Amino acid sequence: ATPTSIMVGTGKAAESGILFKGGEHLERTHQLEAIILDKTGTITKGKPEVTDFTGDNETLQLLASAEKNSEHPLAEAIVAYATENQIELQEVNYFEAIPGHGIKATILGKEIIVGNRKWMLDNGIDIGEAKERMQVCEESGKTAMLIAINQEFRGIVAVADTVKETAKEAIQQLRDQRLDVIMLTGDNERTAKAIAGKVGIDKIIAEVLPEEKADKVKEVQLQGKKVAMVGDGINDAPALAVADIGIAIGTGTEIAIEAADVTILGGELLLIPKAIKLSHATIRNIR
Ligand code: ADP
Ligand code: MG
Repeated sequence: ATPTSIMVGTGKAAESGILFKGGEHLERTHQLEAIILDKTGTITKGKPEVTDFTGDNETLQLLASAEKNSEHPLAEAIVAYATENQIELQEVNYFEAIPGHGIKATILGKEIIVGNRKWMLDNGIDIGEAKERMQVCEESGKTAMLIAINQEFRGIVAVADTVKETAKEAIQQLRDQRLDVIMLTGDNERTAKAIAGKVGIDKIIAEVLPEEKADKVKEVQLQGKKVAMVGDGINDAPALAVADIGIAIGTGTEIAIEAADVTILGGELLLIPKAIKLSHATIRNIR
């Protein structure tokens, strides 16, 4: 590989908003065989909105007051929804966020627990009546969370996040480039399947805890594949670092950009197949 052609390649990439940290990353991009994409904020816009809420006003007040203390995009959606409904938020006396599961808080002397099925199960809360409604939400690609107050089930809140307009086209192009495309998420299997279906992905790894994401990348590498990981969040940084090529979405967190080898400005997914095409063109010209 001549340093000059690599420089020309990375320069061309930069003009389109594809920032390679170094020339060696352009060479390695040429060798990719699989690509793993995070769901929230990578395939979807990462700006969920509340679509369903089945509880009463007290439940909404405690729910939003608790979520006000979480930085999760799901929490932001819930707080916005409560604000739109003129709900007054209260100070929490205690708050705890359990990554990949949910939250627990104490407000006005009551304990509220919000999160996924596993989190309810861990807390010994019976969600019997909610299962069906939850399933319907998930089948349409929504993320449904369960709410309990003082150990009693009180309702569900579901949010929907829209997929990026160009996601489907970008994924088709990656396939045409003979890459194995996989979606990775902490969300439940059913929601993951619905979103994956919308963008034409048939391989999903769902219900993955934040700390397990890097291991999932390693598993694909153990199949003998050179793997790229695309992500936006703090959660994704270790997975980006482990991957042969870590691709950060430019709208994501600084820590993700630091851990990555390539940054895609503006979160435009079409820039990923473009980066791969450029790497092929550059390396093939060299050889
Ligand atoms: P993602 O991969 O989509 O970023 P996470 O690993 O952050 O997902 O979260 C997985 C699941 O844990 C969520 O789908 C949700 O059910 C639950 N969860 C996480 N954070 C919260 C929160 N602040 N409030 C309620 N539920 C949460
Ligand atoms: Mg995420």
